[in-house]
Amino acid sequence: RFAELHLDQVQRAFGDTVALKGMDLTIKGGEFVALLGPSGCGKSTALNCLAGLLPLTGGRITLDGKRIDDLPPEKRGFGMVFQNYALFPHMSVRRNIGFGLSMRRTGKAELNRRVDEAVRLVQLEEHQHKFPAQLSGGQQQRVAIARAIVLEPPLVLMDEPLSNLDAALRLEMRTEIRRLHQSLGLTTVYVTHDQEEALALADRLVVLRLGEVQQVGSPEEVYAHP
Ligand code: ADP
Ligand code: ADP
Repeated sequence: RFAELHLDQVQRAFGDTVALKGMDLTIKGGEFVALLGPSGCGKSTALNCLAGLLPLTGGRITLDGKRIDDLPPEKRGFGMVFQNYALFPHMSVRRNIGFGLSMRRTGKAELNRRVDEAVRLVQLEEHQHKFPAQLSGGQQQRVAIARAIVLEPPLVLMDEPLSNLDAALRLEMRTEIRRLHQSLGLTTVYVTHDQEEALALADRLVVLRLGEVQQVGSPEEVYAHP
């Protein structure tokens, strides 16, 4: 686990639109940070810059002092969970979860052991041999989460992961995500436009507005001075 991830004046422009106007942020290992703000404020852009899916147009990102903004996504090795979970439809739950490990040439015994553990963590034991189309939305979301955490990534990036679920399931999965974060000691950056969700989940909130950090603080601090 890393000590500090640092965004230093991170900028991203799309033509004339400056989606991030020099974002400064330090994330400590083990923290759960929510990026919060209205649609269009730059949340997804920030997450994609962290993931390596979008090159920066200015600034830098360092992990324990080493620059990572010039590394491709696979070299950063961060786990990603998006709202469209993009599971492989022709693969069983177990194979979906094990895919990343098999790409890393993990041996069969180790692969089976880690897939077993991930299946257990997201409570999909009964469904592990099914295909994605046979699962509910919440179960598919659990597969997506298991697929990210099975690789034991230094950082898990989540972009509105619960927005396609109904209200009851959103609450259930919220608890689940918090539980996994705590029991695995994950470092999580979580994008949402839902203030209540951010308050419930995060140790620290980063409120973005028009591509700039407007406020950073604990849920109590941000809630007291909205
Ligand atoms: P959020 O995730 O907070 O809704 P985004 O990061 O998606 O915000 O977008 C921030 C700004 O950047 C918006 O003005 C959006 O229109 C613009 N933007 C995002 N992606 C692109 C893109 N691929 N091309 C052009 N403009 C983009
Ligand atoms: P099926 O062979 O019908 O897909 P399962 O759903 O039981 O059956 O999955 C088979 C096994 O494949 C599991 O034990 C799992 O650990 C393992 N597995 C996961 N990903 C891969 C992979 N990419 N290649 C081979 N085995 C994998």
